[in-house]
Amino acid sequence: MTQMTFNTKTKVAIIANGKYQSKRLATKLFNTFRDADDFYLTKKNPDIVISIGGDGMLLSAFHMYEKQLDRVRFVGIHTGHLGFYTDYRDFEVDTLLENLYTDKGEKISYPILKVTVTLSNGHQITSRALNEATVKRIEKTMVADVVINDVKFERFRGDGISVSTPTGSTAYNKSLGGAILHPTIEALQLTEISSLNNRVFRTLGSSIIIPKKDKIEIIPKRLGSYVLSIDNKTYTHRNISKIEYKIDNKKISFVSTPSHTSFWERVKDSFIGEWDS
Ligand code: NAP
Repeated sequence: MTQMTFNTKTKVAIIANGKYQSKRLATKLFNTFRDADDFYLTKKNPDIVISIGGDGMLLSAFHMYEKQLDRVRFVGIHTGHLGFYTDYRDFEVDTLLENLYTDKGEKISYPILKVTVTLSNGHQITSRALNEATVKRIEKTMVADVVINDVKFERFRGDGISVSTPTGSTAYNKSLGGAILHPTIEALQLTEISSLNNRVFRTLGSSIIIPKKDKIEIIPKRLGSYVLSIDNKTYTHRNISKIEYKIDNKKISFVSTPSHTSFWERVKDSFIGEWDS
């Protein structure tokens, strides 16, 4: 192996959840990279972030480095079943190391969501979501206008609304009855959470998939507290005047893996399992 200077070394950050298996694997990787000529371990400005745990851990890793998406590529190792953001299982760590040693910087990128909340005092809060952003009203039924690309589409009444990314479509969105989207489709999906539908109140009822160029706006019709969830984090805001959802101009990138598991294989493994054909 050739001796590299500090500047040419690949900077690697390793983060793991609290599971015993994850911590053990993190120690193994840490020891390997500490002694490697081509890599430099650092949590600051890494080129590659290795997340050990599950899809939930990868969500946390994404938020830790969401301001550095231009430079960071992620690698997920699952210490359980096959995940959606995790290309490697814990017993495949040697394959991962071989792939990283021959890595040429190739990546595979997926769209993420940009959410802008405008409060009634004009203050704006912008966030990025990898899976989805949901809004729910705390006190009573949420009443909100849904505007899609400036078309006043419907008045929603119910528990809340989820807007998910393609990679988030297999998460909460699926539990809500939304469709699964292949992650290369650049689109957002709006899914209702327990809408009120009767002779008086009406919503579309099915989920809506909107393309990259379009935006979704949710305009709450009542004052009060709203709970906004961005992936695995929850925030409470009072008096929201508008929430805007768009596909962000940045993407999440993963280290391209020669043995990349097909998306449909992951969907089958997670939700169907083996069956007798
Ligand atoms: P959690 O409640 O501890 O776990 C949520 C589960 O969702 C975990 O099994 C996780 O997989 C899985 N998951 C995460 N992202 C996924 C994806 N893109 N596709 C398929 N499964 C995925 O919370 P967490 O681990 O911090 O994850 C937060 C996410 O939970 C939210 O973004 C939301 O999508 C999801 N959620 C789902 C529901 C529901 O289905 N009713 C309700 C609330 C939140 P791992 O085991 O691999 O980590």
